[in-house]
Amino acid sequence: MTMVTRRGFVAGAVAALGTRLAASRPGTAQTGSAGPPDPQLVEDLVAANHILVDQGVLDGYGHVSARHDRDPARFLMSRSIAPELVTAADVLEYDLESEPVAAAGRTSYLERFIHGAIYRARPDVRAIVHSHSPSVIPFGVTGVPLRPLYHMSAFLSGGVPVWDIRAAAGGDTDMLVRTQALGRALAQTLGTRPVVLMRGHGVVVVGTSLPQVVFRSVYTEVNARLQGQALALGGGVTYLSPEEATRAEASIAGTLGRPWDLWKRKLGGR
Ligand code: MN
Repeated sequence: MTMVTRRGFVAGAVAALGTRLAASRPGTAQTGSAGPPDPQLVEDLVAANHILVDQGVLDGYGHVSARHDRDPARFLMSRSIAPELVTAADVLEYDLESEPVAAAGRTSYLERFIHGAIYRARPDVRAIVHSHSPSVIPFGVTGVPLRPLYHMSAFLSGGVPVWDIRAAAGGDTDMLVRTQALGRALAQTLGTRPVVLMRGHGVVVVGTSLPQVVFRSVYTEVNARLQGQALALGGGVTYLSPEEATRAEASIAGTLGRPWDLWKRKLGGR
């Protein structure tokens, strides 16, 4: 009897563990918090919001998220306020269906579905920026491809897809990614790339860290501005070759801490 009881207990414990593991898998309903995130991650998420405002990528709109350090099926993002006003107290935990775990009456960004869908589709992604970065907008509406014309934006090599919400929704919308289905369609167009343009709306940039996604967001905006200027001059534009892009991206990858430290310092006491 003792054996059976113990076996029964062990079986029960294993079943409970299995339930926990299943609960952490994408696509499974979840309850409860993953626990408090690393305070440094929250601090960096707040800094990323402020830096991207300073750099002209975010304004009163747009959002930044980071995957939770304790649970890959969760991510962290501010409640619905302007990025410049975000503090650590505004950061909420979300599941991969982009629903807040404990909102306590606080409202969420309408387009939060962008984030959950991409974290689900891209296990490599640990940080996401959605913005209306102004210089990229023309490349989403003209058919002129956004391409890297200098080394800082080498990560754009290989193509920047354009997502059209009208095609995804099967008709006219208010242009906002306000459902899980639209989030999944956007994630599908992003594919394995670091950047996807949204026709008539903005851009989504992904990365393996907050410093990287901030770097990519800033230099996507700068490249778009420079490419628009180069195209306006007339004549041909010489872009980075795929090999140049590969080498440049590898060289710059080791230096991302430099602009990140600078940008953080420029925030001052905020
Ligand atoms: Mn938007």
